[in-house]
Amino acid sequence: MIKLFAANWKMHKTQAEARQTVEDLLRLSAVDLPVGREVLVIPPFTALSATAAGLAGAERYHLGAQNFYPADHGAFTGEVSPAMIRDAGASFALTGHSERRHVLGESDSFVGQKTSFGLAAGLKVILCVGEKIEEREASKLAEVLTRQISLGLADVPKNIAPETLSVAYEPVWAIGTGLVAGPAEILEAHALVRALLEDVFGSVAREMRILYGGSVKPDNASEIIALDNVDGVLVGGASLKADDFSRIVLA
Ligand code: PEP
Repeated sequence: MIKLFAANWKMHKTQAEARQTVEDLLRLSAVDLPVGREVLVIPPFTALSATAAGLAGAERYHLGAQNFYPADHGAFTGEVSPAMIRDAGASFALTGHSERRHVLGESDSFVGQKTSFGLAAGLKVILCVGEKIEEREASKLAEVLTRQISLGLADVPKNIAPETLSVAYEPVWAIGTGLVAGPAEILEAHALVRALLEDVFGSVAREMRILYGGSVKPDNASEIIALDNVDGVLVGGASLKADDFSRIVLA
């Protein structure tokens, strides 16, 4: 399976900064990008076009959006449709990022609505799931992942192409905190996600990527990416500097 290295820039970077960062990233990583890897850059909406221009022609480098609204168009002030982000050059999008669930109040079922709508609209969707620290301490990992995945995929057709859907396991307590999940924790959660995907899609789920996210850095990336059922990483803070992120994609 081709491993995906995704950079989530969150609410950072102007157009000029985005353009500069992708130029630096390509200079530092494009020639040496190992076979079997691809890169995804996920800037804020306002920098999608500038980032697309910076990535133009770079094979195995893709563009994604952090969010979208599940409608083609209409009276949804402040929102952006899948067609609009595709028009800006993006082919991927995130759904269910923990900041959208826990800071902006998105429910499991709304995340599910977005996931199925985005896929139907031709986007490759990365559904993000993960438990809060109090849920982990209460031994609710399986319960949380089962709920987030079953509601997140409730309306997704069973015959979708496996490369169009990925799941990112991102324990909330590891996002932006410097606390990284250990190998045993990652192995356990990813095996569970794989089993849940197989329950929904059958054997084709073995071809769906499961990414890990949560304080991935240049010095822990190679260990994480080598683990069973880890088909890529979703990187926040350490993706903002081309130097750090290039060391992750080459790790
Ligand atoms: C993220 O934003 O998805 C993320 C994992 O952030 P960080 O790498 O900073 O923990």
